[in-house]
Amino acid sequence: APGAQDYVPDSHVLTRLAEAAQQCHGCDLYLDAEQTVFGAGSRKARIVFVGEQPGDQEDRAGKPFVGPAGKMFDKALAAADIPRESAYVTNAVKHFKFTRSERGKQRIHKKPGRTEIVACRPWLIAELESVQPDVVVCLGATAAQTILGRTFRLTSHRGEVFDLSTDGDLPALSVSPQVTATIHPSAILRGPPQDRDAAFAAFVEDLRTAAALVG
Ligand code: SF4
Repeated sequence: APGAQDYVPDSHVLTRLAEAAQQCHGCDLYLDAEQTVFGAGSRKARIVFVGEQPGDQEDRAGKPFVGPAGKMFDKALAAADIPRESAYVTNAVKHFKFTRSERGKQRIHKKPGRTEIVACRPWLIAELESVQPDVVVCLGATAAQTILGRTFRLTSHRGEVFDLSTDGDLPALSVSPQVTATIHPSAILRGPPQDRDAAFAAFVEDLRTAAALVG
């Protein structure tokens, strides 16, 4: 079966993992994207944020959360008094999945499928085992379903705290951080403008609650 496991080195050194991930052909997404966008941040982070996948700008920059959603995320982190450099930020899927607009100019985000999520999961497991955070925050349904299982519903379980040793969908994981899920910051941008302030405030509140779980 395809998957990233054949490409993941037997190492807990983040820089080695990131380097090896550049060569990953664990699913077909590497074919059209520019590069692997591995996680970034402190290797000693107590809190890890997991998004869905890199977007257009992340794919070009090779860094996670640098596009419009990343800017929204930075603003929310600042409002929640969480220094981004103290955290580790990554995505469930490490390559940008997209379709081209009719004239081929724009690359339009396409949601990763279960196959790609499962194929890429060994990288996420390796990152979590390397960083060994106290808390993992899933940003959006894709990250939440990657970590907490495909039946997880963000609408009913947003903000609840789970223990990965008993809940969740990462059986191979040797560490057991607490896990919580909130929206993806892109949802604030996509939502109706008149709802943005309230959506932002609720997101910041979720980040504060998650940060308070750090032991
Ligand atoms: Fe490998 Fe993940 Fe990229 Fe697929 S998306 S090629 S599994 S790094």
